Amino acid sequence: NLTQRLSRVVKTMRGQARLTEANTQDMLREVRMALLEADVALPVVRDFIARVKERSLGQDVAGSLNPGQALVGIVHKELTALMGGDLGADASELSLATQPPAVILMAGLQGAGKTTTTGKLAKWLSEGGHVQNGKKTGKKKVLVVSADVYRPAAIEQLKAVADQVKVDFLPSDASQKPEDIARAALDHARRHHYEVLIVDTAGRLGIDEAMMREIRALHDLLKPIETLFVVDAMQGQDAVNVARAFADALPLTGVVLTKMDGDARGGAALSVRHVTGKPLKFVGLSEKLDGLEPFHPERMAQRVLGMGDIVSLVEQAQKNIDMADAEKLAAKMKSGNRFDLNDFRDQLQQVKKMGDMSSLLEKLPAQFAQAAGQLQGGQAEKQLRRTEGILNSMTPAERAKPELLKASRKRRIAAGAGVAVQEVNRMLAQYDQMQGMMKQMKKGGMAKMMRAMGG
Ligand code: GDP
Ligand code: MG
Repeated sequence: NLTQRLSRVVKTMRGQARLTEANTQDMLREVRMALLEADVALPVVRDFIARVKERSLGQDVAGSLNPGQALVGIVHKELTALMGGDLGADASELSLATQPPAVILMAGLQGAGKTTTTGKLAKWLSEGGHVQNGKKTGKKKVLVVSADVYRPAAIEQLKAVADQVKVDFLPSDASQKPEDIARAALDHARRHHYEVLIVDTAGRLGIDEAMMREIRALHDLLKPIETLFVVDAMQGQDAVNVARAFADALPLTGVVLTKMDGDARGGAALSVRHVTGKPLKFVGLSEKLDGLEPFHPERMAQRVLGMGDIVSLVEQAQKNIDMADAEKLAAKMKSGNRFDLNDFRDQLQQVKKMGDMSSLLEKLPAQFAQAAGQLQGGQAEKQLRRTEGILNSMTPAERAKPELLKASRKRRIAAGAGVAVQEVNRMLAQYDQMQGMMKQMKKGGMAKMMRAMGG
């Protein structure tokens, strides 16, 4: 499989200090194949490979990485950027910042998932899922309406969906003109103080001018703050043409990629993003109405490359170990001060920030997870919590001077933490080990310690 192929290439690239045309060639071929297998459109693949080449050639291979790993890093970074990571963290947030009602217009081909996504979005918004600048903005009063007058069943379908998610549905009628429905909905939403109005629209099986004209007219009338292009991830290569047609016809604000629960590898995400230039905002993960997730560029990048979550594991560890704290500690060591249990407790906090242990383990490919077998079943986490409990039961003075810890103090601490005295002793042994590591750090520098801490 692809992960194996990539890692085989990575291995053959050992021991070179610089990325060159020659040593990146095999790897780039694998990446190219991976992207094509993931249904990324050919022109997009070409552009991407050219970009990675440009970024990587002549680069020094940093630190302990081998050239293959360094290249995986670059590929991942570029892929994440192309998926929208370069747009900034807020790009994938839904904008509702306007005079209410904030109108969301759904566009896309028939069967793409517009009606389903309308229901999912309505549920997500009415239940308080919306986030702006990293903060939840609370539950929204949402109204949905269907302007799909070509299939009477379409209006019924939206009503059923709205009932299911307990969101208000404004009845419309197949004999009405879509624009009249939109006008009435806007008026109703204003008068009844809805915060959000989601307008579901008709789609055709292929792109046609009449449909584009109609949705453009709806857009002019509704002046939506969000115009979401809904596209089926299973469409693969075709998604490019559809996306281009919609992007040309409408000022899109974002993309929803549906049916990512199937075996689609997500290549469409890259193509659609490339063609429209608009951020992907949501991913549809199920026919059910809770199957909607905000879009994560890195996650999708990994899925497309088929690298499992190895990259995210590495990155998560790097991100969460607070460099500032680590440096402070290093400075303290250099100045000759001792690494005491207060520092040890800080250190544990850092480890905890790396995420809960079982989810870290889940992200490892199977062979690594097996190797880490003794940590499975929440053991690592339990251990961490116990150690923390013990440290918390000590006084700051005891933590600063562990040699104070004679038998009676240990008994008090054990009782406070609800553990046996042996546990306290075990923790102190752990601390001794940590001190050993600190001494090494003084010799080997930060990088070594970070590696040790990252596992
Ligand atoms: P519309 O024609 O664009 O309104 O598309 P619909 O919302 O009616 O969806 C078409 C079909 O795709 C329906 O059977 C939906 O249940 C299904 N569907 C929509 N979104 C998803 C999704 O994210 N995952 C899966 N598995 N099915 C979906
Ligand atoms: Mg529909």
